[in-house]
Amino acid sequence: MSHSTIALALHGGAGTILRETMTPELQAQYQLGLQTALDAGYAILEAGGSAIDAVAATVSSLEDCPLFNAGRGSVFNHIGEHEMDAAIMAGNNLACGAVAGIQGVRNPVQLARAVMEETEHVLLIGQGAQTFAQTQDFPLQPASYFFTQQRFDQWQQALQEGRVQLDHTEKKFGTVGAVALDIRGDLAAATSTGGMTNKQFGRVGDSPIIGAGTWAANDTCAISCTGHGELFIKAAVAHDIHCLMSYKGLSLQEASDLVVLEKLVKIGGEGGLVAVDAQGNISMPFNSDGMYRACKSSGREAQVLIYK
Ligand code: ASP
Repeated sequence: MSHSTIALALHGGAGTILRETMTPELQAQYQLGLQTALDAGYAILEAGGSAIDAVAATVSSLEDCPLFNAGRGSVFNHIGEHEMDAAIMAGNNLACGAVAGIQGVRNPVQLARAVMEETEHVLLIGQGAQTFAQTQDFPLQPASYFFTQQRFDQWQQALQEGRVQLDHTEKKFGTVGAVALDIRGDLAAATSTGGMTNKQFGRVGDSPIIGAGTWAANDTCAISCTGHGELFIKAAVAHDIHCLMSYKGLSLQEASDLVVLEKLVKIGGEGGLVAVDAQGNISMPFNSDGMYRACKSSGREAQVLIYK
């Protein structure tokens, strides 16, 4: 099938993003981080590149930006370390790869891609994933690379209050993700996260769980989620949207709204997602106050948004 539409959507996390604490300078920095990532991925699609390359480039750009809770700028777990999760999936053949609980890797999404391309497995965790990173010559960064004062302060506060926190005092999920449709009609999705502040050592969220936080299939959609991971796993969010489209014939918008605005709300699952279908329709629903997000598709202006 020849195709001419291309589309890219990304998120930098959902949650209660309070206008009162958002300065114009900080907002401009977030918008720049989102725009830079959007441009990186969209340039690949415009040049005829693949959806997989586009989502990997977009998510890597967001991982490199310390404002977002993925790669550099990841949150601290209960024992004061960074443990990161990531996944990537190709819609044309359901190829997918993921890593969980990894440390020191600058771009976890690229390690997830190496799992997809270089192993016969889907998910590698902890020490095994670390060893795999070394055999693949991934350069490791010292803990200081991932350190940000803001995340450290959040962790100290969460420790004192004895709670597990979703990235921010104001309940913000800073996970990053992207979905894309390329010129050949192939879909792809990728997600990367530092997880939740003060999370238990070894805790894994929805992001690297295929079908929960990340999913892509050419006949339906590509999805990347952000929100309270435990609830997103219970609701099998990304795969549920795929099923509603595949078995029930719902549109992308109908299916994603149903899951995010009804099903998740009923079980208290705060968050949102970005999604694209095979026609290049984009949907970015969230049930929180805001979600850092951006999108662009053929013949349409780029959008960079934070609030409703
Ligand atoms: N979903 C992520 C997790 O639970 C958190 C986030 O979206 O920021 O690990």
